[in-house]
Amino acid sequence: MPLLFVDPKRRAVGCSHSGWRGTVAQIGRVTVETMTREFGSDPADLIAAIGPSICKECYEVGEEVAGQFRELWRTGRFYGMPIGEILTEQGGGKYRLDLWKANEAVLRAAGVLPQHIAVTDICTCHNPEYLFSHRASGGKRGNFGAFIMLKE
Ligand SMILES: [Zn+2]
Repeated sequence: MPLLFVDPKRRAVGCSHSGWRGTVAQIGRVTVETMTREFGSDPADLIAAIGPSICKECYEVGEEVAGQFRELWRTGRFYGMPIGEILTEQGGGKYRLDLWKANEAVLRAAGVLPQHIAVTDICTCHNPEYLFSHRASGGKRGNFGAFIMLKE
C-alpha cells in the first residue's frame, strides 16, 4: 500500500510503503515525523493519500498478524477507534484486516487531519486485470510503484 504526502505550504512531498508490517510499525507516522524534521512540515498542513492495496473483503490474515494489530491498538491511541473497526474475526483463527482504515488511524494519530486523507478505495485483488495482486496471482506477480513529484 503506497502512502503519498504533499505539504503545499513547505512545498515538500513524501512517499512510503505500508504493508501489514509497515502498518504495525506505523510507517505513516514515521513519514509524517520525517517530513516535520526534514522540511519543517506541520502535520495539519499535510495532504495524504492511501493508495491501492488489498481490501478488507479480500484480506484474510491469521492469528500471528491479528495479534500484532491487537497489540498496536492496545498500546497506541487511535482516537478511541475500537480494534473491531479494522479486524473482524472469521472463526477458525482467521480474520479480515482493513489496512485502509488502520493506516487512516495511524495518520490521524500522527496529526494529519481527517479531511486531508484520501483513500483511493481501489483493491488490487479485486482488479488483477490492471493492478498486480500478490493474493490474486498466487504470488506470481509483478510490482507496482507509486511516485509523487513537485512541479516547478
Ligand atoms: Zn478486494
